[in-house]
Amino acid sequence: NSLIHGGPPLVNPPDNLTVPQFLLDGVSRHVTHPQRLVGTPCLIEDDTGRKVTLNELRDRTNWLAAALCFHWNIGEDTIATIISPNHIDYGCIAWALHRLGGIVATLGPMLTTGEFVHQFQIAMPAMIFVHSDCLSSVIQAAALVGLESDRIVIIDTVGSPGPTGLRNLTDLIHEGPSLPGFTERKLTQGEARNKIAFLAPSSGTTGMPKVVAISHYNVISIVIQSATFNRINESYGPAAERRFRLGDICCGFLPLYHIYGLVYNLHFMIYAGLTLVLTPRFNFEKFLASIQRYRITHLTLVPPQAVLLCKHPAVKQYDLSSVRYCIVAAAPLSATLTQELLEVLPNVQLGQGYGLTETCGTVGMFPLSQKVGTLGSGGQLLPGTSGKVVKADGTLAKELEVGELYVKGGQVALGYFRNEFATKETFIDGWLKTGDQVYFRDGDIFVIERIKELIKVKGLQVPPAELEGHLLTHPSIVDAAVIGVPDDYSGELPMAFIVLQPELAAAATTDSRLADELRASIFKHVADVKSKHKWLAGGIRFTSAIPRNPSGKILRRLLRTQLDSAHSVN
Ligand code: AMP
Repeated sequence: NSLIHGGPPLVNPPDNLTVPQFLLDGVSRHVTHPQRLVGTPCLIEDDTGRKVTLNELRDRTNWLAAALCFHWNIGEDTIATIISPNHIDYGCIAWALHRLGGIVATLGPMLTTGEFVHQFQIAMPAMIFVHSDCLSSVIQAAALVGLESDRIVIIDTVGSPGPTGLRNLTDLIHEGPSLPGFTERKLTQGEARNKIAFLAPSSGTTGMPKVVAISHYNVISIVIQSATFNRINESYGPAAERRFRLGDICCGFLPLYHIYGLVYNLHFMIYAGLTLVLTPRFNFEKFLASIQRYRITHLTLVPPQAVLLCKHPAVKQYDLSSVRYCIVAAAPLSATLTQELLEVLPNVQLGQGYGLTETCGTVGMFPLSQKVGTLGSGGQLLPGTSGKVVKADGTLAKELEVGELYVKGGQVALGYFRNEFATKETFIDGWLKTGDQVYFRDGDIFVIERIKELIKVKGLQVPPAELEGHLLTHPSIVDAAVIGVPDDYSGELPMAFIVLQPELAAAATTDSRLADELRASIFKHVADVKSKHKWLAGGIRFTSAIPRNPSGKILRRLLRTQLDSAHSVN
């Protein structure tokens, strides 16, 4: 059989609930646990040690919903964007909007003004919640798309009053109890399947950044799929043998604007009864110190942290013995690195997760039966997930045969928001075309190559088409192509092949100073307007022509081969 199904069997996730009703309101097992309600916190703010219990999360969510309803009359399908490093109220903002029927768009705080404008033009948010750290570029971008500043709320940290004239989040939350209240948006049976909860950025398989529409059901489903896969329930045996236990503590530096942080760290870990230690920005030594201080049991990483854990000298100075579980996802972790990591963390359950924003974060994970996931594998399909591998000739692959992975399941998102064309290309008859080339062996997914046009730098997306379009606006450039080149720490780095204006091209071949100046100017051209992970840190190479197929598509594989042969000559 060429279709692969994940197990164990899945009890149908509810499709009549919003995300906050599911997570906060007593329908799931963890919520009724008395220890959870008042004792064991859901969140700890790493910097201050401040703790928030489930009851407090629910109160803050409801107070904010009351304030949003009162001041802005937020209602059905109002879109609001959250732009912030990890913050203890991040979830409350999202859930308050959900309570009112609103939609939450998440964006990275490091974006530049131009990148914000592009995103605002797609989602057209009616409100923006922005952290005081990234206020100025957001205000500029909001003005450029015509959003009034009275629609901007500052996410403040303790002691930062925020500039005058703009409302701040803490005041709004504190105002809540004295306000009239709000009518909660409730869903009928099946309605959660199509009601959008989140808009998450992803560039998909090709072209410019897009926005994935994720339903309430998608989030609830992936949480229950992950819970079933990991058998978190008490009925699955004695606590000591379970992977996730009430009171376990998980690190929380993964950015909440990315699906991995938003869904697996925030929603799943709260559901599983864990406490998340929220960190606004990743700093390796601080990370080690928090593992020691909070006795962190669960690590959710992307490959660069795995590299640091293996190579950084500071690791030896900290006690990491509390760690029991470590998952690495969002980009591949090589077999060698996995083995090195096991030497640093010998007693942990260690493995990979594989997924996409378009699957609400997860397609596969290393199963409970494995203490260490099969080396090099992206894990096994979650329950309620089917996969098929389509070969280049369109037929279905069998075990060990390579092809493009298609997946189906409750976690597969609705499509690209306001982009019917891209949706039709990628979401086909209920199957998601992943753009990843894989094969299966004994249930394990091995991701061999990304066939879609996407570069991943430290787990973050860099769409080459976005950089190519921008490079063409440089006065010296007539054509450009961007590919990812391997990098030990970041996984990949963007590298540009550039065709210069003919006179410059001729001069640059003989004048190395001119060539260096041109490279510097091209590097700056990108660095001036794009987020740092998109900078051309993989290099800039001049070439006479960009190889293209007859329909104009860049032949990136050829560029990669050019590079490989150049390296072997050098
Ligand atoms: P994103 O939507 O940003 O999560 O990016 C999704 C893409 O990241 C996938 O389509 C894969 O190309 C890549 N990816 C995620 N997890 C893994 C993994 N464990 N191994 C290899 N590639 C991965």
